[in-house]
Amino acid sequence: MAIYVTVPYLPEFETYSKYLKGIWQRQWLTNNGPLVNELELKLKEYLQVPHLLYLNNGTIALQIAIKALKLKGEIITTPFSYVATTSSIVWEGCTPVFVDIDSKTFNIDAAKIEAAITPNTTAILATHVFGNPCEIEAIDKIAKKHNLKVIYDAAHCFGTKYNGKSVFEFGDIVTTSFHATKLFHTVEGGAVFTNDSELLKEMALLRNFGHNGPENFDAVGINGKNSEFHAAMGLANLENIEAILLSRKNQSLQYNKWLDRPDITKVEINKNASYNYAYYPVIFESEAVLLKVKTELEANRIFPRRYFYPSLNTVEIYKSENKMPVSETVAKRILCLPVYHQLSNEEIDFVCRIILRALNN
Ligand SMILES: *Cc1c(COP(=O)(O)O)cnc(C)c1O
Repeated sequence: MAIYVTVPYLPEFETYSKYLKGIWQRQWLTNNGPLVNELELKLKEYLQVPHLLYLNNGTIALQIAIKALKLKGEIITTPFSYVATTSSIVWEGCTPVFVDIDSKTFNIDAAKIEAAITPNTTAILATHVFGNPCEIEAIDKIAKKHNLKVIYDAAHCFGTKYNGKSVFEFGDIVTTSFHATKLFHTVEGGAVFTNDSELLKEMALLRNFGHNGPENFDAVGINGKNSEFHAAMGLANLENIEAILLSRKNQSLQYNKWLDRPDITKVEINKNASYNYAYYPVIFESEAVLLKVKTELEANRIFPRRYFYPSLNTVEIYKSENKMPVSETVAKRILCLPVYHQLSNEEIDFVCRIILRALNN
């Protein structure tokens, strides 16, 4: 049997099919249906946030956020994220300006942001990498001083808290993803969060083609809606979210026991955060060591993932003049190890023994 970097969580078949019965009875498949509404309510309750809009994916969430804030010109962002963070900026006709990351947290380095601000800068779009919150206060201060908007890509953050509140509460707009590979998922899906009621209204319009009633169009919208089938998966998975979060935490602690050694570096978690253990990344001393470990794991049918790799500032289509030395070296040496609900203790022991064998040879 192979061990992959992740395997999607699936609820009990009966749990999901109990929602399907209702869909068949109502014959209401999409367009703001009752399950979508129920999921939005239950998510607000669980996350303790005042507002959110459920969307069809985390990339549309980013694009709707940029559109709703009417951003133009340059957006400061991180080169160490999934490609969607950068591609959304370009797709919306803006220019990504990369700022290097902090060598311990792998989040955008707040101390380097001001030097990248120009008269054309309109916003900061930062990722809370691996579910670990950015330096939120520092970024907020810079944004206020220079009159910039702040969007956080919180695709990894389900369950992460910051100063006792959901991390989805910090920033002008926060986006997340409920893709099948994420800790909490609805097969495909995403959401936007904001505390600003005007922005919320605007994003609700944008999600639904700009429709204001059946015959009025108040904005140049897009189809950002999600379906009853996706919402049903979300409702079913939410029933078991505490167990999903707990298994992630236990798996991380088990990895820690095996991999506590000076030649393996881990992410430093923000001290104001209550962390969700969404991923288990390790950084090796060199790319050569990473490749040696990865080859050995693959020979044993274990498939970790180089994530995030490559550093986005080195991707030909997004290439920037500026070197991002920290992001580039971290991207070359980082490997995400398997974590998912169904992963057993024995499998983690097996993965770790092979890593240690590769390192000690
Ligand atoms: C997964 C992910 C996205 C994209 O979300 P989708 O729902 O797959 O569109 C964006 N940013 C980050 C950091 C991600 O990990």
